[in-house]
Parts: sequence; structure tokens; C-alpha cells
Amino acid sequence: ERVAPRTLEVQGLTQRFGGFTALSGVDLRVGPGEVVGLLGPNGAGKTTLIDAVTGYNRVTAGTVRFDGEEITRWSPHKRARAGLTRSFQSLELFDDLTVRENLLAASDRQDLLSGVTDLVWPGTARLSDTVRAAVAELELEDALDLRPDELSYGRRRLVAIARAVASRPSILLLDEPAAGLDENESAELGRLIRRLADTWGIGILLIEHDVPMVLAHADRVLVLDFGVTIADGTPEEIREDGAVRKAYLGE
Ligand code: ADP
Repeated sequence: ERVAPRTLEVQGLTQRFGGFTALSGVDLRVGPGEVVGLLGPNGAGKTTLIDAVTGYNRVTAGTVRFDGEEITRWSPHKRARAGLTRSFQSLELFDDLTVRENLLAASDRQDLLSGVTDLVWPGTARLSDTVRAAVAELELEDALDLRPDELSYGRRRLVAIARAVASRPSILLLDEPAAGLDENESAELGRLIRRLADTWGIGILLIEHDVPMVLAHADRVLVLDFGVTIADGTPEEIREDGAVRKAYLGE
């Protein structure tokens, strides 16, 4: 079952901190089922952009629209409830619950009702199709009845991503989801990201240092440098962009 199709649109986003301009006039669009990669060297403004989109910073200028509605001044909580979800690292998992319970706790009402069913008829716990597919894709089935603190660091991070998916977001913002993952886990994650977009219509903004992963899975890629967009195009266009190679790939 696909998520509600909604488009995230950022226009002319500028973020100053005192006299320092971290972002300057950035435009960005993420539509349903699209994976948009956000690349750039350290300090380029990637996290600042996600903070602005999720409402953690009050932006200096520009607008954020979600499904056409301006949400620039909405609280982070209101944005999350509307279906704009950010996956933090693994810090938000409850270590006294099992992985399954963590996923149920993050789920929408229908899943919560199934969770109640499970209390009455143990063993019938129902994770939503989206979450079960995420669990399968991330090879987390054998972790469902363990607690997060019994898992490796990499697997905890994968659980955190499955948990973000459990709320059935229309737009999912992933800030360096592959950090600390091994090669195999990274590859699984890349496939999951593509599948969340293709199968469920989730729009994904992917910030990642793993450039090959972004170029392999994104539909479009935005490259920031010193808070300014230096390139915006398909992975093929980005690969061949002279300015990107110079600023970012050190060529
Ligand atoms: P990236 O995620 O691309 O590495 P950031 O968005 O974290 O970059 O940071 C962009 C720039 O903005 C950096 O120079 C950083 O020091 C600065 N910055 C970020 N947040 C703040 C803040 N709250 N106050 C002052 N400067 C900040």
C-alpha cells in the first residue's frame, strides 16, 4: 500500500548564523517516489538544510512547502505528524523494548491496534507490510525479538531506519544513514532506499558521504559547497560535472 503522495519543495532557502551564511538561496524538490541525493564536502550546509526542512532551525529567508502548503514556520512535531520524517541515527531506539516493539511503537494507528491484538493473542503481532518489507530487505528478521543493545552498531542503525519507515512517511530525510555500516549493510540499505521509493512512493532526501551509493540509487543529485548549490542534475550529469569534481572530488 503506497503512502500519501506529497511533494517537498524548498525555495530560496537562506540560513544565517550571526554573520555567517550557512545556506544561500537553495532550491530543492523531492516528489513522491523520488530519491534525491544531497552531496557536498563537510561544512557545505547539508545538515543545516535538513534542519531547516524539519523545523529545527528558524530559517532566515525562503520557503518550505509540503504538498503545496507553506510549512516554513511549522513546529518539527507538526511536520513529522504530517508525514515529513527524519531518521536520526540510532539514538532514538528504546533499549528496554525489543526491536519488534520499537517498530510497533513507531507505527501508525492500524499497526498499534495490531500490537494490542498481540497482547491478547500472543504471537500474532503484525508489523505493517512496509515495515515487514524493510525488515526483510535489511535482513533484520532474526533481530526482531532482541533488544537494540544486543545488536551491533550497524544493525542498530538499520533498525532506526526501519523505525522511521514504520510511521509511513510521505517524505523521508536520511542524514548519513550508511555511516558506520559495513559494505554489505550499506548495499542492503541502498537497495532498501530505492525500494521504499519505487514500491511505496516515499520521497527520499538522502545525505550521504558514500558518493557511489548516492550516484547508484538517486534519481537526481544536488551538490552544495559553502552553502551554495554548485550542481543539480542526474547522477550521470553530476559524474561529469567539472565544478563538482573540482570542489568535491578533489580533481
Ligand atoms: P554539513 O552537514 O554539510 O557538513 P553543516 O550544515 O553541518 O554542514 O554546517 C554548515 C556550516 O554552518 C558549518 O560551517 C557549520 O559550522 C555552520 N553551522 C551549522 N550550524 C550552526 C549553528 N547553529 N551556529 C553557527 N554555525 C553553524
